[in-house]
Amino acid sequence: MTQPLLMPTHTAAVFCGSSHGDDPAFTRAAERLGEEMVRRNVGLVYGGGDVGLMGVIADTVMRLGGSAIGVIPRLLVEREVAHRQLTDLLIVETMHERKHRMYAMADVVIALPGGIGTFEELFEALTWNQLGIHRKPCGLLDVGGYYRPLVDLMEGARAHRFLGGSQETMLPLREDPAEMLDLLFSRVAAP
Ligand code: AMP
Repeated sequence: MTQPLLMPTHTAAVFCGSSHGDDPAFTRAAERLGEEMVRRNVGLVYGGGDVGLMGVIADTVMRLGGSAIGVIPRLLVEREVAHRQLTDLLIVETMHERKHRMYAMADVVIALPGGIGTFEELFEALTWNQLGIHRKPCGLLDVGGYYRPLVDLMEGARAHRFLGGSQETMLPLREDPAEMLDLLFSRVAAP
């Protein structure tokens, strides 16, 4: 395990694809988010894999001397997808425990493009916001309109009154990682 150059002042949980997707722009977005987080001394908490965009953001943060903590279930460690060069790798027993630990460590939650795993982690964080179990501002880091249909779905749910208008259940969409981090950290509740 490698110590960061500076202890992070804040932490973002980043959920993203275990694949790279079909466009190098997705990889570039993961790198840019990692770079911006290190520049601001925001630590990364993520699912602990070394595959796809997960591996890209973790490698970027580690290369620049930032802090990257992975939380991974034992099952995935046994499948040898765990990243071995992180600030810390927490091995947990279940997928539920993994999410719980990631949320507990995070001030904000950001989803980069991904698939079912990414959606599930993001939506459980939002559900917990809705229920008041925690309060973690969540946002979508968009690449080429990838998340536009999800925003449309959420707006439809609001229009049909399946979803209220509270800020906790908002899912802002930004392409620029600096704008995303500014927005989400401006919404973090004062202690
Ligand atoms: P997906 O978006 O379906 O590729 O799933 C990515 C999300 O699910 C990540 O944020 C991880 O927490 C988790 N996940 C899925 N596959 C893996 C894997 N091979 N290694 C580690 N975590 C994974």
